[in-house]
Amino acid sequence: MANVRDAHCHACGTAFPTSDKYPRTCPNCGTQVWANPIPVSVVLVPVRHGARVGLLVVRRSIEPKKGLLALVGGFLEEHETWQQGGAREVREETDVVIDEATLVPFWFTSTEPRPNRVLLFSTATEMDAAKLPVFSATNETSERGLVFGPDGLEAAFAFGLHVEAARRFFAARGVDGAHEFIAL
Ligand SMILES: [Zn+2]
Repeated sequence: MANVRDAHCHACGTAFPTSDKYPRTCPNCGTQVWANPIPVSVVLVPVRHGARVGLLVVRRSIEPKKGLLALVGGFLEEHETWQQGGAREVREETDVVIDEATLVPFWFTSTEPRPNRVLLFSTATEMDAAKLPVFSATNETSERGLVFGPDGLEAAFAFGLHVEAARRFFAARGVDGAHEFIAL
């Protein structure tokens, strides 16, 4: 069912031959349809909380993986750079305003086993927890918080590649041991 969206030609409505292959060429008008991997901008926002620096996360209130934690990010809109889209997602999901110009590429990776998404992880400038604006839950995120430390994130996080990005972040700072989550 994965390719039902392209069952018919967008230009003339002719049904495509049953096939999972892309690009598809319309047998009637020759229009081609492509299915390219989609970029996702994900921002690691370091937040200082006392002596520690955690990563900003949200608890998902939508499927998939409802109830689990995720780093902040999402799909880009057509007019956005990855920096603009990442900053917008952070604002929409957490009420935290970051300067898109300060985002630094951190790690880019394709999803597995289907490489139909390219995750563009970046890091934001460190913030102070005391200065975060009040959080309002949205229909996508029920909770905002920080995670500290890498171990056990695979059980707490919705997405394996977010776990890997967080591990890389903490490893680069010499932080190890069990993770902790605090709502914020
Ligand atoms: Zn056509």
